[in-house]
Amino acid sequence: MTTRTDILAELNLLPQWRRRSSTSGAAPAAPAITPGAGFTDTVVVSDGASVRIERIAALSWDAFAADVDACTACGLCRTRHRTVPGVGDLDADWLFVGEAPGAEEDARGEPFVGQAGRLLDNMLAALQLSRQKNVYIANVLKCRPPNNRTPEPGESEQCRPYLDRQIALLRPRLIVALGRSAASTLLNVDATIASLRGRVHRYRNVPLIVTYHPAYLLRNLPDKAKAWDDLLLARRSLAPPHA
Ligand code: URA
Repeated sequence: MTTRTDILAELNLLPQWRRRSSTSGAAPAAPAITPGAGFTDTVVVSDGASVRIERIAALSWDAFAADVDACTACGLCRTRHRTVPGVGDLDADWLFVGEAPGAEEDARGEPFVGQAGRLLDNMLAALQLSRQKNVYIANVLKCRPPNNRTPEPGESEQCRPYLDRQIALLRPRLIVALGRSAASTLLNVDATIASLRGRVHRYRNVPLIVTYHPAYLLRNLPDKAKAWDDLLLARRSLAPPHA
């Protein structure tokens, strides 16, 4: 019989997934949401919204990061230190989409480099993948929301053309939505992870699997086994290779 320890061992998550004492750097608490700390979504693009969307939809990979760097379409541009466009293999079959950069990502300009990122790397390794090999990692938002608050709908809407463009350029054979923000943005639904996981969705005909966000998994050990099931479903759901 497969035990929970077997699963964690397979995910290469022992011993670092063991619960830590509160004095030894416990897993981060849920992101603090500071009421009133959000920005209103002031759209400060000089061109019209549809012109902006068309421009982003025509970006090459070479032009992509600089365009994100110059973006001032929502208030997050005023508080970010670095933009976080995405990282990985530009020929990847697998695309993982998270919510938004946190403090470490904002400082380094790369997604998932904090504690949740280390867990994501371990999950990738369990699938014989890595952020350098057959995987691309992006977020719904390319800039950090203050205090890691949940993205506001207007921010996700302004950033959405960038994610759409990344997917069009990458042409992944599978998308894994990490957490509710990614799932609801990509699938245009407002539903719980529990109700969305366990089946194959589609984003513009690309198979899409929904699973828990690594930061959530760090706080909810029992759900790691479910996340592993989701990744196995993802592996079985890869679209056929492009012609
Ligand atoms: N959480 C995310 O959703 N994305 C990151 O890049 C880091 C943490």
